[in-house]
Amino acid sequence: MKVGKLSKRIACVTLDIESDLLDKSGRIRMFDSTDLMRQYSRIVQKHNIKVTGFLVTSLIEKYSTEIKLLSQTIPIEFGVHSHSHERRMQYFADEVSSSVAAYEDFFGVKPIGYRAPNGLIDSKGIVSLIENQFKYDASIFPSIRLDEYGYSNLHLPNQPFRFVHSGNEIIELPAACLDTLRLVFSMSYIKFLGLDIYKTLMRFFPLPDVVILDSHPYDYYINQIAGNIHGWKKYAHLRNCDQAFEVFEGVITLLREKGYEFMLMSELYKYVTNLSELPIVSVEKLR
Ligand SMILES: [Zn+2]
Repeated sequence: MKVGKLSKRIACVTLDIESDLLDKSGRIRMFDSTDLMRQYSRIVQKHNIKVTGFLVTSLIEKYSTEIKLLSQTIPIEFGVHSHSHERRMQYFADEVSSSVAAYEDFFGVKPIGYRAPNGLIDSKGIVSLIENQFKYDASIFPSIRLDEYGYSNLHLPNQPFRFVHSGNEIIELPAACLDTLRLVFSMSYIKFLGLDIYKTLMRFFPLPDVVILDSHPYDYYINQIAGNIHGWKKYAHLRNCDQAFEVFEGVITLLREKGYEFMLMSELYKYVTNLSELPIVSVEKLR
C-alpha cells in the first residue's frame, strides 16, 4: 500500500561501530570498558530510544561478545559500515562483498543497510549495494565536506529518496542536515558547535522531518584518544568532550520535544518505501 507524503517526524540514532579514531590497534574503548558501555546503554534505556549500529564487519570476531551483550541490553539492530573502513574507492565493491559475507556468517541473515566510511560513495558504489541486495543506503551527507575527504552533495535531497539505476532502486536515508544551510547535525558537529548554536539556527533553518543522527563510540570519550588527533581536528573533537553523554541526552530531549518518534533504520526504511511521493534521483547524479 502506498501512502502519500511523510506525515510524521521520525528520528533514528545511528552508531558507526568502528575502531576509535586513528587507533591503529583497532580498539573500541566503549566495548573494552563496561563503564562506558553502561553509561551509553543507560541513556538509551532512560529515554526509551532505539539504536541502529553500522558495523565495520572485520571487527565482529574480536567484539562478538560485546555485540551480543549490547543486543541484550538495549533495542539495537545492525547494518554494515564496510568491512575494514577502507576509504579508497577502488576497493569499494570488495569491501561490500566481504562485509556481506562476514555479516551473514555472524547474524545468519543478509544485511539490509549500508553506510560507507566517511560518507564516501559514488554511483558505482550505489550500484554495488543494489547488486548485493541492500535495501537502503545511509552514506549520503547532503552537505559539503571541506577536509581531505571533500565532497559536495548539495544537489541531493535533504530527506529520504529513491536512487534509481536501470530499473532497480535503493532507498537513500541521508544523514541529518539543517534546512538550506545544510549544516550536518551529527554528534561530532553538535559537540563542536554546541547544542545551543543549533537551537538558534533551527529557528531559521529547521531540521528535516526525518533526522538520522550520525555518531561513533569515540564521540563519547574523545579525550581518551586525543593523542591520535592533530591540527584543527583535535581542537574540534575536544570541544565539549567531557559533556558528550550530556550533549547526547540534550539532543534526544530536543528531538522528543519537537515531536520526533524514534525508530530503527529498518523501520524507517519500511515506512518510507511505501510513500508514493518520495523524490527520485538517478544514481548517475552522484559522482
Ligand atoms: Zn566510519
